Amino acid sequence: MDPGRTPVTGSAAAVDEAAWASAVAAVRGVPLDAEVQLICHVNPDGDALGSMLGFALGLRRLGFTRLRATFPGEFDVPEPYRALPGSDLLVPEQEAYRSAPLILIFDVAAESRLGALASLLGGVSRVVVLDHHASNTDFGDVNLVDPGAAATSVVADELLTRLGVPLDAEIAECLYVALTTDTGSFKFVRTPAVHTLAARLIATGISAADIARRTFDTRPFGAMKLTGEVLGRAVLDRSAAGGHGLAWTYATTADLERHNQRPYVLDALIDPIRGVAEADVAVVIKELTPGEWAVSLRSKGAVDVSAVAVALGGGGHRLAAGFTAHGEPEDVIMRIRPLLDAHLA
Ligand code: 5GP
Ligand code: MN
Repeated sequence: MDPGRTPVTGSAAAVDEAAWASAVAAVRGVPLDAEVQLICHVNPDGDALGSMLGFALGLRRLGFTRLRATFPGEFDVPEPYRALPGSDLLVPEQEAYRSAPLILIFDVAAESRLGALASLLGGVSRVVVLDHHASNTDFGDVNLVDPGAAATSVVADELLTRLGVPLDAEIAECLYVALTTDTGSFKFVRTPAVHTLAARLIATGISAADIARRTFDTRPFGAMKLTGEVLGRAVLDRSAAGGHGLAWTYATTADLERHNQRPYVLDALIDPIRGVAEADVAVVIKELTPGEWAVSLRSKGAVDVSAVAVALGGGGHRLAAGFTAHGEPEDVIMRIRPLLDAHLA
């Protein structure tokens, strides 16, 4: 390609033509009344739900009549995503089609992120994975994995285009929520392609301002108070990560109960922690069920936190990763600390 030109989407570059063709053939190869199961990752975020529901709506536009979308674990859709178009297709994991001939999986880097739904794989289904994690284990029959894509929705958009689905406002809203979630509202954008896609989505008539307010700037009063407490107990560890510094905090299920909040409200905590000037690395340790913690890791560039997360059984991207942990928050930090030094970029 002419080095002065930029690909129209982030996905064209990393996914080869054969994989796109296989994905299109997998969708076209099942009848319109076949059961189609869509799945995204545990504790779903905006990219997981948005790319899955946007794609599901695209399949509905193609005429598919038996579509179900789900994710592993408790059927608790985070409040900001409850009104996403296509939410009527969401079912609890127990109601997933058990032997659908086609399974589509979104934003899932490894089978471990599928919980009990991993048992649906390995049967007669054709499994198509759409993702953007460099750590993806290629566990599908067809793997559309582009580590250069800003969000899984970039890959979903490309496949919808190749299937001939016209973009409409409902699909666009889902894909826009996904794109803005994973780019931190366009703060982490590295290519003009992200804005080109955003422009196409906004051109359908969706209100970017309304979506941003609903998705990122609306929270219950209790969530705001909880955030204040959790930030108040943050620790700055200047000597961690080879002297680049670590800022961290934690939130417990008791904190959530005291403020009558759902776990998803803790996902926003990483943003103020990562803003600490004296630390390259930010960590938030979130107790989702008693004794089990979801750990979020971020770096400004000094550490490959994906390698740290993989070493602890998780995964993610170089500058944003996570894993599941047990024990006390201090124990979790003691496990992370030497790995930060081991994975200085
Ligand atoms: P977050 O901190 O926003 O939950 O996740 C940041 C990144 O790390 C995301 O790309 C997410 O997919 C990945 N990640 C978070 N938790 C886990 C985990 O337990 N396992 C794996 N494999 N990846 C995770
Ligand atoms: Mn994602």
